[in-house]
Amino acid sequence: MPATSVSYKCPNCSAPLSFQPGHDKVTCEYCGAELDIAAVDQLFQAKQEMAAREREAQEAKWDTDNAGSDWDSNESAALKAFTCSSCGAELICDENTMATECVYCGNPTMIPKRFDGMLKPDFVIPFKKTKADAVAALKKFYEGKTLLPAAFTANNRVEVIQPMYVPFWLFDTNLEGHATFRAQKIHVVDAGREIIKTTSVFNVERGGNMKFERVPVDGSKKMNDDFMDSIEPFNYKDLVPFSAAYLTGYLADKYDVTAEQSAARADQRVEQTVKEVLAAAVKGYDTVEEQSCAVIKNDGKVSYALVPVWILTTRYNNQPYTFMMNGQTGKVVGSLPYDSTKALLYPGGIALVVALVAFFLIGMLI
Ligand SMILES: [Zn+2]
Ligand SMILES: [Zn+2]
Repeated sequence: MPATSVSYKCPNCSAPLSFQPGHDKVTCEYCGAELDIAAVDQLFQAKQEMAAREREAQEAKWDTDNAGSDWDSNESAALKAFTCSSCGAELICDENTMATECVYCGNPTMIPKRFDGMLKPDFVIPFKKTKADAVAALKKFYEGKTLLPAAFTANNRVEVIQPMYVPFWLFDTNLEGHATFRAQKIHVVDAGREIIKTTSVFNVERGGNMKFERVPVDGSKKMNDDFMDSIEPFNYKDLVPFSAAYLTGYLADKYDVTAEQSAARADQRVEQTVKEVLAAAVKGYDTVEEQSCAVIKNDGKVSYALVPVWILTTRYNNQPYTFMMNGQTGKVVGSLPYDSTKALLYPGGIALVVALVAFFLIGMLI
């Protein structure tokens, strides 16, 4: 260690520290903290190690190349695609199935197109909820909504609800997480004439190995994330190896976000969880502040899966309104407009009655 060094910083206030040769301790000129030189040195080494680990962490990539596989020629020959002439959504199905209208915008003009440019999924969660379940859930969702335009509730409209598989990238990893925290214990003593407040500052480190399985990131830009979040979770225990037979009679949304493009979101989700778990392990302090967190993936497998939803989009005043049901659990979400003429009619009706009553009372008084 050089006799004086400015590369060491006070762990309490971050001010540069000047060491005097021949002393074991140093007092920070700025905050007055008394520090043990050996401990400061150790902390500095640990920080450097952490910085190196963080660099390593940034380099560790997910193995996105092995997500999904290629179709064999028989399988791909039996598939076809439809593109929405309005929003550009691309839906895949088997040769005997039709995309009757766009699930995303409600547009009835779906243009047939040659199937290409989609990998074969690794896994699928098969549909558990039938069309009858979906129609019943949709009717219940509309029930009692007096201001809903009739175009929504008409039977032939409700029946158009379509089953669609949504593409997901699933991320598996074993990783090491390390985080450092600045924690404080504050001790206040009321000594009569004065109050003595003692603040002890601790550098706390937490680390551990964690295993993540099937962290999901959806592969569809068109799919509304809020809606998808609302019908989650899917139970990934029901995942089975994909076979083209699962597409018979069902649509599949073609992913427009690749595994590689989804990796950053998987990293974010994993890192957030690591931070929360490690922060929860810092206990017994009055304040805790995270200083650094490094996540090092030892491996990073990605697979491509399809999850089932029932979906219907109805247009009203040029706006799409969507109803969705989780095809596995039956959880539902939807958006609804209200008919402005009906809205005018109802409060108007009430006002009219009030006016008549008032008129009647006035008439009585006279
Ligand atoms: Zn200081
Ligand atoms: Zn569309």
